[in-house]
Amino acid sequence: MTNSIKVTNPATGELIQEVKVNSEDEIKQALKNGHESFKSWSKINAHERSRLIDAWSQKIKENKEELAHIMTLENGKPLKEALGEVDYSASYLDWYAEEGKRVYGRTIPAHTESKRIIVTQQPVGLVAAITPWNFPGAMMARKAAPALAAGCTFIIKPAAETPLTAIKLIELAHEAGIPEHVIQYVNGSGKQIGELFTESEYVRKITFTGSTPVGKTLIQDSASTIKHVSMELGGHAPLIIAEDADLDFAAKQTIATKFRNAGQTCVCANRILVHESIVDAFTEKFVAEAEKLKVGNGLDSETDIGPIINEKGFDKIVSQINNAIEKGAQVLVGNKFDVDKEKGYFFIHPTVLKNVTAEMDIMHEETFGPVAPITSFKTIEEAVEIANSTPYGLAAYFFTNNYQTGTYLHENLDFGIVGWNDGAPSAAHAPFGGMKESGLGREGGLEGIEPYLETKYLSIGNL
Ligand code: ADP
Repeated sequence: MTNSIKVTNPATGELIQEVKVNSEDEIKQALKNGHESFKSWSKINAHERSRLIDAWSQKIKENKEELAHIMTLENGKPLKEALGEVDYSASYLDWYAEEGKRVYGRTIPAHTESKRIIVTQQPVGLVAAITPWNFPGAMMARKAAPALAAGCTFIIKPAAETPLTAIKLIELAHEAGIPEHVIQYVNGSGKQIGELFTESEYVRKITFTGSTPVGKTLIQDSASTIKHVSMELGGHAPLIIAEDADLDFAAKQTIATKFRNAGQTCVCANRILVHESIVDAFTEKFVAEAEKLKVGNGLDSETDIGPIINEKGFDKIVSQINNAIEKGAQVLVGNKFDVDKEKGYFFIHPTVLKNVTAEMDIMHEETFGPVAPITSFKTIEEAVEIANSTPYGLAAYFFTNNYQTGTYLHENLDFGIVGWNDGAPSAAHAPFGGMKESGLGREGGLEGIEPYLETKYLSIGNL
């Protein structure tokens, strides 16, 4: 193919498939088609739309194994995690197939007998989504499901590293009976498509999951046409372990939240803050758990940690490890790599760093890799201060069985998602999203459909 994206397997570097890059004309036509089809899709009653979203979900469940296989091939994540992601993706469709039936308006008592005041909700229009490679299915599902349920049409540019899952999901949507132009995909350069999406008069909303700098560009570019924007951006999650925490439980949960997807998620624990009185005991348990994790090809059922997505990601993680070591951190396990630059694969073994300090890059930059930096604190107030000392505000975790400590942490951590004795809080029925530079808006739950709706106020007079 002359102009194509080469999708490779990050576990082997092998070519999986070439995907056609769309021309500017094709992308503009797709946007026009999405806009045109909004006229009919938005008028279909909510119950019928719900039935179609439900049929899509059924197709996803029937094709679970194949979808998970595609995901593991293009992303590298362990098959067991990919199977979980297929279920997680379908759960957004299931939730919003129902929630679309509950887009209620309201009537407001008028200030005079001659008027009636009515508030209705209507879909915003064509929604353009840009998604990352780390959850190729779920990041699309949690945007597409509420958009379609609200009556919007939808177009997506998936990440160049992982377009195959999105393509398969959209094929299944069409097979389920969702009209061709109601949900579409385009592929190509993020920058070019981002510009075409943001400048298009047809697109009424941009929804993005990815890095904070790209999110800022999309917000700026959306200003010219005052589009709605939802942004799910970077994170730098603190994980606080209080003096009284159940250390066995905390160690296992911290392993899960740190090493899922080889540490390549925006809600992975990035800074592990442990009370000074228990830091050694916790670290010993945590390292023992980290040592059990198996690194390898995600298709191998034993694998817990797959490859890093690409060389750029690998280089950033290694530079954070080196920077921490240079500044005095101690490696307790890991700092070991299986790499073949020529073939194009990069594995990092689970790495635990002790004596990490605020001066190290790893305490300021998003890590996106299987590296766990541990530091200690004296008071819970100090832990909150360290935790909040970042422009990010996506997820935070803490472990304590003391309700006063827990309440204090919940109320004082500036993060949109908080896990209290819970390393895996995400769910389709709960609002996911960040404060500060981690984003705008929420996905999931009741809140997740609102960004796809406009409020219209009708005042009837002369009665
Ligand atoms: P990551 O570092 O996780 O790849 P990015 O923010 O670079 O995060 O990428 C997330 C998504 O944004 C991908 O689909 C990517 O192609 C797209 N993208 C990258 N640069 C731009 C841009 N300038 N405008 C719009 N989308 C972009």
